[in-house]
Amino acid sequence: MLAHFQNELNRLKEKGLYRTLKKVTSPVDTTVTINGREVILFSSNNYLGLANHPALKKAAISVLQNYGSGAGASRLISGNLEIHEELEQRIAAFKKCSAAIIFSTGYMANIGAITSLAGKNALILSDQLNHASIIDGCRLSTAETKIYPHKDLAALEKILRQALSHHDKGGYNNIFLITDGIFSMDGDITPLPDLLKIADRYNAIVILDDAHATGVIGKNGGGTPEYFNIADNERLIQIGTFSKSLGSLGGYVAGSELIIEFLRNRARSFIYSTALPPSVSASSIAAINILEQDKALLQSLQHNIDRFKKGITEIGYGSVEIETPIIPIIIGDADLTMEFADALLKKGVYAPGIRPPTVSENQSRIRVSLMSSHTEDQIDTALSVFEEEGKRLGII
Ligand SMILES: *Cc1c(COP(=O)(O)O)cnc(C)c1O
Repeated sequence: MLAHFQNELNRLKEKGLYRTLKKVTSPVDTTVTINGREVILFSSNNYLGLANHPALKKAAISVLQNYGSGAGASRLISGNLEIHEELEQRIAAFKKCSAAIIFSTGYMANIGAITSLAGKNALILSDQLNHASIIDGCRLSTAETKIYPHKDLAALEKILRQALSHHDKGGYNNIFLITDGIFSMDGDITPLPDLLKIADRYNAIVILDDAHATGVIGKNGGGTPEYFNIADNERLIQIGTFSKSLGSLGGYVAGSELIIEFLRNRARSFIYSTALPPSVSASSIAAINILEQDKALLQSLQHNIDRFKKGITEIGYGSVEIETPIIPIIIGDADLTMEFADALLKKGVYAPGIRPPTVSENQSRIRVSLMSSHTEDQIDTALSVFEEEGKRLGII
């Protein structure tokens, strides 16, 4: 009975795909203590360093003391606290949308939104490199789902035309184009303006998952639409998370009143799950306050991105086209990549190696993610370790 699970685990070990947890025993900051050793962290989504920010902690503590640790029920029963509605208004305003709905996580926001919006007679076109929660949302939905090659909109349009011409039951009732804003393993940005043009031509809706882009790109950290100067419009539904640059926890969908009202009534991961703890929502609001009032964090993030990119190019890793804090350093070979990642970690730099199946064959890489709170010293230390170890292993 249980032998199957042991066999599967053994198989993972043989293939080098067995996963283990690293224990962090310090606050989440630019340095962390992992398995008892302090290392500089280049693998966090805490881009603005807000996860351990005094204002977020203070907000959480005060609400925790006044309102307790749990919401006690789902939003539609008795768990709809004032602070949840406040957070929904704040994130909607931050996203320049008319309404928003919050979920317990970004993962649940994708599952809930995609499965309820894309019903049986819908067609979904999903970017090949979309996040797992989008993939799972598509799989759980009853819609017909097609994957298009990464950011290849000509291919997308071709697949769309083919699907339309083969559909003989009077057409789809809705077409969804779904994409990450910033792709999590490559750090590149989705071509949102052109995607919206296609959506216009085919009367489709774009679902944009801005998990990595919110609080990162756009002049106010508004994400991909702000980066491209695109105003909220009825073709666009924005998804995101409070757990990355906003340093807290929770997912959201922002869009028109109509879409949000629909999700409140139909998204199962909203309806059948307990509302977020009030203290967590308080931290999220505090994070939005910081982003709205203080552009210094965004500026220092940009400064750190520029410094790292310039340095890594100068030491021989080639030029970096990426404009975001997720910087992939492509090594190619999976074993060499993991050896390199281990060597970096031994020298106190934690930037993980990423290999197949997470990325395709010969695309193994070190994935560096930068934070606004990294000091110049920390970045320069990392660069010199990249130089030393890269040379030793014959990578540069
Ligand atoms: C991290 C991430 C999510 C999940 O968000 P959580 O709040 O961590 O569940 C969803 N989509 C994308 C693109 C992500 O990067």
